[in-house]
Amino acid sequence: MKYAKHISELVGNTPLVQLTSVTEGLSATVLAKIEYMNPGGSAKDRIALKMIEAAEASGELRPGGTIVEPTSGNTGVGLALVAQRKGYRCVFVCPDKVSQDKRDVLRAYGAEVVVTPTAVAPDHPDSYYSVSDRLVTEIEGAWKPNQYANLNGPASHYETTGPEVWNDTDGRVTHFVAGVGTGGTITGTGRYLKDASAGRAAADGGRVRVVGADPQGSVYSGGDGRPYLVEGVGEDFWPTAYDPAVPDEIIAVSDADSFSMTRRLAREEGLLVGGSCGMAVVAALRLAQRLQDEDPQAAASAVIVVLLPDSGRGYMSKIFNDSWMRSYGFLPAEEGATVADVLG
Ligand code: PMP
Repeated sequence: MKYAKHISELVGNTPLVQLTSVTEGLSATVLAKIEYMNPGGSAKDRIALKMIEAAEASGELRPGGTIVEPTSGNTGVGLALVAQRKGYRCVFVCPDKVSQDKRDVLRAYGAEVVVTPTAVAPDHPDSYYSVSDRLVTEIEGAWKPNQYANLNGPASHYETTGPEVWNDTDGRVTHFVAGVGTGGTITGTGRYLKDASAGRAAADGGRVRVVGADPQGSVYSGGDGRPYLVEGVGEDFWPTAYDPAVPDEIIAVSDADSFSMTRRLAREEGLLVGGSCGMAVVAALRLAQRLQDEDPQAAASAVIVVLLPDSGRGYMSKIFNDSWMRSYGFLPAEEGATVADVLG
């Protein structure tokens, strides 16, 4: 009989799928790593598992302990999933701008969710930051993973995501593209792939080039933190989990381009993924186009792997909703009749 003893044993080993429609006219092979196939639906399951196991090993997290993290999304799901198996309590703090749906998902996994007002200054006692700090200090046995500063985040990608990409491409990957949020994915995976390919001959692709994708306005691509709508990526500060020496370049992508590609991935490639996935694919395709313009022969043998962090299910009322898209000008105003109008 082949079975896992718990769903958390199935974190990682996600598949690569070739993009064949959005890549029309490009000669490079573009492979997407489908992280929504992790049990919690995102790449964050990997860091959750590693951060918890490392905290157990170091004694920071003890039996019966409580995990406290300011998170509203994918990291919370990963932590809740692993915590449940191991008998830890989870308390997540999220600002009230986070959708009810997202809070409900965390609660469904058994986590407690504390909601804080968005409209207060960071040093106000009710702010997101103050409340999570207070919970960590006052709850007996509390431990805060702090994904932005926890080096076990990048380490989990060095140990799992990197080797998976290398092995599944038989060591032929030439470029790795990923969005940058905490920076854990690109730092860990990129570092592994660079180490693995360090001695590779130029004729076989040389050292893997690592390319970050970033929303226009975020600090990684030289912005000042100006608001953008794509979620999970870009920052207004430099997290410790990010090593800026790993990426060889950063490509900035607009919200409009990210969302339009996200929709094309669902419609043309059968990949219902999140907005940061569309963003990363835009960067991968721009890279493929540039390689082709510079050296058509080298482009034809390039193997570009782009990591898609999560599923589109969490964005149905935004990216996949026409009125939301129209309200930001990402879709033209409604014109003419629809099929329904015509058929009555
Ligand atoms: N996309 C989404 C949807 C995310 O939640 C995250 C994590 N913040 C990322 C991309 C970026 O990953 P990382 O934090 O490893 O840079």
